Amino acid sequence: MAQMTPATVRLKPLFTRDEIADAVRRIAAAVQRDYDDKNPVLVGVLKGSFIFLADLVRQLEMSLEIDFVRLSSYGAGTQTSGQVRLVQKVERPLKGRHVLVVDDILDSGLTLKFLMDYLARQKPASLRLCVLLVKRGQQYVPITPDYHGLQMDEGFVVGYGLDWDQKYRNLPDICVVEMDGGI
Ligand code: 5GP
Ligand code: MG
Repeated sequence: MAQMTPATVRLKPLFTRDEIADAVRRIAAAVQRDYDDKNPVLVGVLKGSFIFLADLVRQLEMSLEIDFVRLSSYGAGTQTSGQVRLVQKVERPLKGRHVLVVDDILDSGLTLKFLMDYLARQKPASLRLCVLLVKRGQQYVPITPDYHGLQMDEGFVVGYGLDWDQKYRNLPDICVVEMDGGI
């Protein structure tokens, strides 16, 4: 008979709020140096990047604009299927602009590869990628972020904007989801 008892979920801290804040400061210093007089457009990928983007831009002392895209990928559970759809596009033309894409995490890279290719077709003056977290060795497509903060190994993380079924985005630390008894 099927096991009816729900698995016990534990959230194990992986990066504390202080470690995240240090990583955001390091990224901000590099972005400040590279984009100082370029009036860049920072394109946040909804929804996961919202806290990272908010913290990042408040450390940047320069003229900049913020826009958002929203992507949906169809897939079961915690894996991306590779089929990506653009649900919300940027509002203003990116042609000739210095565009910096800001996302929460680089996993397989499929979603961000799709987005970078889509944005490149709009002929920006420059196009770079900034992610807070990179999963080491998990990229199946050739994609390397220009700026990244933290690295992790396999596992599924939540907090600091990252969700599990739309929950846990509000956790100030980034935690690994651990389940006893499986799903
Ligand atoms: P990719 O296309 O790189 O495989 O996945 C990109 C998206 O999958 C991320 O922007 C994020 O929304 C989601 N994702 C990948 N790994 C994780 C994870 O460990 N935790 C959460 N909450 N989302 C993840
Ligand atoms: Mg995302």
